[in-house]
Amino acid sequence: MSLAPRLIRMHPSDNVAVVANDGGLPAGTVVDGLVLAQAVPQAHKVALNALAQGEPIVRYGVNIGHAAEAIAQGAWINEANLHMPSAPDLDALPAPPSEATQPQPLDGYTFEGYRNRDGSVGTRNILAITNTVQCVSGVVGHAVDRIRRELLPRYPGVDDVVALDHIYGCGVAIDAPGAAIPIRTLHNIARNPNFADSTMVVSLGCEKLQPSRLFPDLFGFGSNGRDGDGSLITLQDENHNGFESMIASILKSAEKHLTQLNARKRVTCPASDLVVGMQCGGSDALSGVTANPALGIAADMIVRAGGTVMFSEVTEVRDGIDQLVARAATPEVAVDLIEQMRWYDAYLAAGDSDRSANTTPGNKKGGLSNIVEKAMGSISKSGSMPISGVVAPGERATRKGLLFTATPASDFICGTLQMAAGMNVHIFTTGRGTPYGLAEVPVLKLVTRTDLARRWHVLGVIVAGEVISANKSLERVGQEIFETILATASGQKTRAERLGLSNQLALFNPGPVT
Ligand code: CA
Repeated sequence: MSLAPRLIRMHPSDNVAVVANDGGLPAGTVVDGLVLAQAVPQAHKVALNALAQGEPIVRYGVNIGHAAEAIAQGAWINEANLHMPSAPDLDALPAPPSEATQPQPLDGYTFEGYRNRDGSVGTRNILAITNTVQCVSGVVGHAVDRIRRELLPRYPGVDDVVALDHIYGCGVAIDAPGAAIPIRTLHNIARNPNFADSTMVVSLGCEKLQPSRLFPDLFGFGSNGRDGDGSLITLQDENHNGFESMIASILKSAEKHLTQLNARKRVTCPASDLVVGMQCGGSDALSGVTANPALGIAADMIVRAGGTVMFSEVTEVRDGIDQLVARAATPEVAVDLIEQMRWYDAYLAAGDSDRSANTTPGNKKGGLSNIVEKAMGSISKSGSMPISGVVAPGERATRKGLLFTATPASDFICGTLQMAAGMNVHIFTTGRGTPYGLAEVPVLKLVTRTDLARRWHVLGVIVAGEVISANKSLERVGQEIFETILATASGQKTRAERLGLSNQLALFNPGPVT
């Protein structure tokens, strides 16, 4: 079905609108009472009136830049004729409101999950094997292949066995302040609800990141580096005599863990046990029109149901920090939000960079002229609820509600840090297309455009583009997202899971290596 020429304006004060049509619109198209001065690609901006040089360009009711030159009505606006404004001053933000609005409760929604001893709920039943250092990765990978082939078929109640592989553990300045982030990330990933407090650990023996440092509390490791329940295998252990002996130790421990995991059953859990991590990747200018606002509606529903929703990606909210502070549930949350922005500003500055380094060639091709425009679309996935907490990179979330989990925007690092924060479902919006996935937590894709969903049908679980192509309401798509999250949490496999597509974990390590 081809759509009549259509422009989408997000806010009454906007002086630009974006092209909705697949394939864009040709020069001379008459739309909304103006004539396109040139061909404009899908999702790209059109000037709704003539603009003088230096005049603000407004989308989402926000100044996303200034006209770099005089721009005619109906002309295409992109990064070539738009100058980026500076980021909001962190020392001049309005104070948060003294009283946050209370969400209206949403009752009656449940899913079938695995209840853990610590009260958290898994959406998958996975045997995870982490390590204290990259040196052991080859051995663990070999063992995981054998576990999958030889043992897993005998334990049908277990979804998978996964190596939590990473490149940390040695050759690093382990006492530097920055080292705390990757260390606590590894600690908390091993505690993700999908692993049932049953994560195995493989250590080399001589590494800087000793098991007792990584898990001082979790497995009851003694000073000799041996634990009571066989969850820790140390390759340099004197009892190991050759490679096969190391593999045998890992397989023996795995069998014990698989037996325990296999006995678990899904039970009915309230939607308040959802911990949904949200991010976007390969965004376009329709991300903020279709996928992200629809996801925002689903996020509101989860929060109203008492669940946890995490949004992240510091550089993609930095330009909207004033909006976030205005939604802080308490003054402490506002302070924490600003603190995370300040830390990241300094981190980028130390690398002679700033938040504008975020946008990619694909973002620009998709109509996002700069990080300000990208941020306004990105933030809309957070919905409208008060922000009840801030989670620092690598920390585990300790409260429910809408949380800002501070992470880089990098898809792999954001997903890894949200996993450490305890997410049990990941939802990912895209406008350009990406095969990103995780083996540890189901990843749902939300696609901004119908055309992309058709070509990348293998990934398009929910087609938010139907807001445009089929005139679906954002509310209807939001409800679909919420219900798909519940079904996925109950065990419905994503297409990426069925195909076995997954990405590596990627730690955020701002500390020095040696
Ligand atoms: Ca991302």
